[in-house]
Amino acid sequence: MDLEIKGFIETSFLDWDGMVVSTLYVPYCNFRCPFCHNSGLIEKPREHETVPVERIEKFLLERKDFIDGICLTGGEPCLHEKRGLFEFMRRIKKLGFKIKFDSNGYLPECLIKVLAEELADYIAMDIKGPLDERYDRLSGIKTDLDKIKQSIKIIMESGLPYEFRTTVVPSLITGEDIEAIAKSLAGAEKFVIQQFAAEHCWDEALREVKPYPKEKLEEFMGLIKPFVSDVIIRGA
Ligand code: SF4
Repeated sequence: MDLEIKGFIETSFLDWDGMVVSTLYVPYCNFRCPFCHNSGLIEKPREHETVPVERIEKFLLERKDFIDGICLTGGEPCLHEKRGLFEFMRRIKKLGFKIKFDSNGYLPECLIKVLAEELADYIAMDIKGPLDERYDRLSGIKTDLDKIKQSIKIIMESGLPYEFRTTVVPSLITGEDIEAIAKSLAGAEKFVIQQFAAEHCWDEALREVKPYPKEKLEEFMGLIKPFVSDVIIRGA
C-alpha cells in the first residue's frame, strides 16, 4: 500500500453534512490557490509524518457503530491514482465505510474511474471561480477549463449525491463572479458557499483580508438560487 496519508482528523462532524467521518489528507496538488490552507502539505510533504493505513483502519473498525465513513481530501486525491489511491479506497469500502471524495476536478479521467468502480458515495468538487479567464487567478495556474467543465458534467451525471463549492475570498470573488459560477452550474443539485478563512493562507497578503459578513453571503445565496436548488453557507 503506497498511499501516503499526511493528516488524520479522527472524528469530524463538519466535513460531510449529516455524517460522522474521519478526514484524511493526502499531499501534493496540481493547483496553487492563493487562499489554500495546506501549502505545507503541497510543497513540503516530507515534513509531515505519514499516518500508517493500518492505524486508520484499526481506528475505524473500533468505532464502526459511530463513524459512517471517511472524507478523502488534500491536496488533490486524484494525483494519487498511481500511488495506491484506488487500492486504499477499495479497502475502506470493503470494511463497510462510506467515502466522500474531495477534488478540484482537474483530472476528470480519475473521477470517471472512481465512479466506474463505485468507490465513492459522495463527491465534492471545488469551483474556484467563473469558468473563464478569471479562473487562473483563483487556481493559481493557467487552467484548462475544458477539464473543469468535463468534471462538472461527469459529476452531475454520476447519479451520486454531490456538491460544488466555492470559497468566497473578498478581493478575488465578487457577486458578479458568483452569478457567473451559478449560471455555469445551472441544474446542479447542491452548491456550497464556503466562508473564507484568512489564517494560514498560502498568499500572505490574503492573511490580512477580512471575510465577507454573513449578510453578504446571504446575498450571494440569492444570486445562486435561481440556478441551483439547494444552496448552503458553510463556515460562517
Ligand atoms: S485545490 Fe485545494 S489543496 Fe489544491 S491548492 Fe487549491 S485549495 Fe489547496
